[in-house]
Amino acid sequence: MSVDELCDPEGVLARQQARESSARSYARHLPVVPVRAEGMTVYGADGRTYLDCLAGAGSLALGHNHPVTVEAVRRVLDQGAPIHVLDLATPIKDEFTDTLLGLLPGELAGDARVHFCGPSGSDAVEAAFKLARTATGRSGLVTFTGAYHGMTAAALAASGNVAVRTPARVLDSGVTRLPFPQDYRCPYGVGGIAGERIAVEHARRLFDDPGSGMTPPAAVIVEPVQGEGGVIPAPDGWLRSLSALAGEHGMPLIADEVQTGLGRTGEMWGVDHAEVVPDIMVLSKAIGGGLPLAVIVYRSKYDVWEEGAHTGTFRGHQLAMAAGTATMRFVAENSLAERSRKLGDRLRAEFVDAMAELPAIGDVRGRGLMIGLDLVDPEASVDALGARPAAPGLARRVRAEALGRGLIVELGGRHSAVLRLLPPLTMTELEAEQVRDLVLDSIAAASAAWRP
Ligand code: PMP
Repeated sequence: MSVDELCDPEGVLARQQARESSARSYARHLPVVPVRAEGMTVYGADGRTYLDCLAGAGSLALGHNHPVTVEAVRRVLDQGAPIHVLDLATPIKDEFTDTLLGLLPGELAGDARVHFCGPSGSDAVEAAFKLARTATGRSGLVTFTGAYHGMTAAALAASGNVAVRTPARVLDSGVTRLPFPQDYRCPYGVGGIAGERIAVEHARRLFDDPGSGMTPPAAVIVEPVQGEGGVIPAPDGWLRSLSALAGEHGMPLIADEVQTGLGRTGEMWGVDHAEVVPDIMVLSKAIGGGLPLAVIVYRSKYDVWEEGAHTGTFRGHQLAMAAGTATMRFVAENSLAERSRKLGDRLRAEFVDAMAELPAIGDVRGRGLMIGLDLVDPEASVDALGARPAAPGLARRVRAEALGRGLIVELGGRHSAVLRLLPPLTMTELEAEQVRDLVLDSIAAASAAWRP
């Protein structure tokens, strides 16, 4: 009997709803019971197939069950190697570390230390904060509006989602939030290069001002492209200035590359677009080849921790390291960052072309295969910068229409009105065309049925 025949999808979904926490998230909007998956295709227990543009929230750089990751995992199992080793040295870890360090940007490639964290991006963010605090002897943090760094206490304190942070009573004293520059909904109301310049000037004057009220922070943390915040790329010039300012003020720059790392944005690392080399990089998702793994890498001068400063039981996941090594090599050897850039640029251009027909697409953003379509109320009037208000209801309809057509997509952004695409970097040209058509059809259908 096949797995598909064994399971009754309606029953599985009903039991999930009855038994799992009310905090479940993706499962609420994507009532799919995956039983098999290959590349970009997910086979549901309902007998349907889906194109997966969520891909483990961007973890599956090579898609589901890519032969090189499956083979890497199988090899470890066949060897009879221990799959849990705490933080002991193993040949598998040695190879992973070698591969990762060899791919790091700029001076970090020759000068980095790596710390294996508990397997989530959030835990690695916590580790980065602890390291920066230990190294600087300071405690505050500079973060940005719209940021997403995870769900553990310090990561949540640094994030922008007030609705999640407030009920959890997470303390965020010591966190200074600066506006993250963006063109479409410019926080300074001017847009374009003027908005970027003001953002730099704002930060500079704040850091220089002895009367700012801000005790000197331990670090600045930034996403090279905000993902959950609505697929907003950090402008290159702004990121360079931020890096320089952080250096001048003795604050390590932490790049949260959990989502942007390993070719996702069209360069190996998100910071490469601006040619910035951060002091600390937070990595997870794709570097584990789809299995749980998270690390921080940082300049050796920050290697100030005492023994046991950031421990944890699950920091030696050999299967994840083997899958991660295979994934990193495949991405590098097959120039998947470049592929991501080309496919992403083409898709974005096609979505821009469709805006005249589909006024619900207010803005098309992103880098590489990290794509966001800002869905707006097409009948509302535009603001001074030409932006219309976000349309979360319409966005939910689009997501449902997409699922009905066999396309798995998620929403993000401040108002959950940004349609996000995070397909595998191995997506074929044909699949890219299918994604484009399904997205545009879904927006057209949702727009026709929608009234604000
Ligand atoms: N940082 C960023 C930029 C992320 O996108 C995420 C996850 N979406 C995290 C941190 C947290 O990672 P995790 O969900 O594995 O804890």
